[in-house]
Amino acid sequence: MKVRARTVPSVPVARFLPVVVLLGVFTAGCATLGFGGVNLISIEEEWEMGRQLEEELAEELPLLEDAVVNEYVSAIGDLLVSQTRMADLDWRFHVVEEPEVNAFNVPGGLVYVYAGLIEEAGGAAEFVSVMAHEVGHGVARHGTERLSQQFGLSVLAAAILGQEPGIIQQIVAEILAVGAIASFSRSQEFEADEIGVELMPGAEYHPRGMVHLLQRLLELREREPGAVERFFATHPDVTDRIQRVEERIEALEGLADLRMDDDQFRSIQERIR
Ligand SMILES: [Zn+2]
Repeated sequence: MKVRARTVPSVPVARFLPVVVLLGVFTAGCATLGFGGVNLISIEEEWEMGRQLEEELAEELPLLEDAVVNEYVSAIGDLLVSQTRMADLDWRFHVVEEPEVNAFNVPGGLVYVYAGLIEEAGGAAEFVSVMAHEVGHGVARHGTERLSQQFGLSVLAAAILGQEPGIIQQIVAEILAVGAIASFSRSQEFEADEIGVELMPGAEYHPRGMVHLLQRLLELREREPGAVERFFATHPDVTDRIQRVEERIEALEGLADLRMDDDQFRSIQERIR
């Protein structure tokens, strides 16, 4: 299954038209259309920025060094990505060794999932739904859309070329402070959910896992607000999302044989604990 091309609300093209020097970037960006709408940062530039961000983040975040867990998380991620038009690109999945319940996508095919989320998930499908949602942000290229809006395309393009070293550090500082690349818009969150719901059956997990996970996080907020504070700060409208995800699942067929849970996930959860 391929994730079909979508029209994503994007940075208005007109905003960048006066910047003649960026014509090359614009053309390169157009060549990558189909990943999710107009995005003026090319895939090559996005992945170049991703490598820089990954390097900086590795110094700042406590990343789990358990090969078994890391291989499992990467295998799930690859299974999801393999169904998309970005399958041939180098995606990397990292586990942050923190009890916080959170996950985020960084441009350039990077997904960071917190140990607390793996621990808290009520089953494999719940965990996979988070991975699928983050891969959804990546496939739709929401990160570079937000960063282009935030910094302006020319500054971001210069940062990728190493001409604005402060910008990469500023992005990293924001990720560390906020627990995500940026607060995505409602429509970006819905789109990441929608892509996630479509990718889960291909990995043989039931997309209802996404509904269960979101409900679980709402409950957890009542019980232990600190654990999910940053998740809810960057992911508003969870109740709306649950409803939209349920509607989306109802429209899908052939879900009967899909898994909600499995032993492999439970053994990974044991290792994390
Ligand atoms: Zn999201």
